[in-house]
Amino acid sequence: MVQNTSFTPISELGEFGLIDRLKATLGQNAATVLKGIGDDAAVYTVSEDRVQVVTTDMLVEGVHFDRTFHPMRYLGFKAISVNASDVCAMNALPKYATVALGIPHNLSVEMLQELYAGMARACKLYGMDLIGGDTTASKQLVISITAIGEAQKEEIAYRSGAKVGDLLCVTGDVGAAYAGLKLLLEEKKHFEKTGERQLDLTEYEYLIQRSLAPTARLDMVRNWRENGVLPSSAIDISDGLASELQHLCRQSNVGADLILGKIPIELVTREAAEFFSEDPETFALYGGDDYELLFTISEDQAIVLDENLYRIIGRITEPEDGIQLILEDGGSMPLEGQGFTHF
Ligand code: ADP
Ligand code: MG
Repeated sequence: MVQNTSFTPISELGEFGLIDRLKATLGQNAATVLKGIGDDAAVYTVSEDRVQVVTTDMLVEGVHFDRTFHPMRYLGFKAISVNASDVCAMNALPKYATVALGIPHNLSVEMLQELYAGMARACKLYGMDLIGGDTTASKQLVISITAIGEAQKEEIAYRSGAKVGDLLCVTGDVGAAYAGLKLLLEEKKHFEKTGERQLDLTEYEYLIQRSLAPTARLDMVRNWRENGVLPSSAIDISDGLASELQHLCRQSNVGADLILGKIPIELVTREAAEFFSEDPETFALYGGDDYELLFTISEDQAIVLDENLYRIIGRITEPEDGIQLILEDGGSMPLEGQGFTHF
């Protein structure tokens, strides 16, 4: 076998370019695979009308979390939530999880028990069972979780199903997790420099909780089901609203009008943005780590859903129109830029 000796830095391709390149190395999927790489979770058939979805998400110390201010219990809760969120983004119900741990030497048994208490709490909340995993030593704490969900075949919401004229919707609010993380990092920096606290973080409790222990929007999935609504497309917001909307539009081959003034941003998120002299809209569009659901439905479906769970933030348009940000004064500009990038 001839070794390929060229060296392409990963930064040249970026995260998604890399995944595409690696995907090309793999062969064809089996006929039972309805969706492989490229959505929030993979989908495969288990019987004529039933499917399962499977997703893996990893949290790495120093990349996804900082142990100095992330309590183990919250970290465990978050690790399950981010996986349950990808299952919810397929309109499936999360059922099972396995966890692979890389454990550094300076972690105690008690800390790991706390981590598991957080995972157990999240599993209970989402109706999941943690049924296995793997344990190894490593330099940093690594938590890699695989989650499996179940649905009827026709219930699955792909990123690719948005139709021109559909309403663009988002659950909860956005920008809060990013605001929370910025506050925590600011407080850490200040404390390391001066040995003293600067902020009253209790004022920002909501933001801190959104960053350290987010909740997957299974409540929205349940509400769709209770009302017989099948969203035409869905994706969860892990990398920022702007970036996830771009994925959804690209895969559905549509454009979108995103109305800036309709994007749900909590008052406390606005206060945090003000503290940093930044735009709350920037937090909302590019912040990431929100684990809300971005989805599309037809106009008549909006009437039946619980309006406390989501907001209509725009409409799906023709692909030639691209993704437009509709500004407060009625003007518009193309939505640009990326959310969080790893490479
Ligand atoms: P999400 O943000 O919803 O978790 P990602 O952006 O992490 O999705 O991944 C996008 C798609 O690429 C998913 O279908 C995921 O399964 C797939 N993927 C990510 N990393 C790899 C990898 N190393 N090998 C194969 N598939 C991958
Ligand atoms: Mg996702």
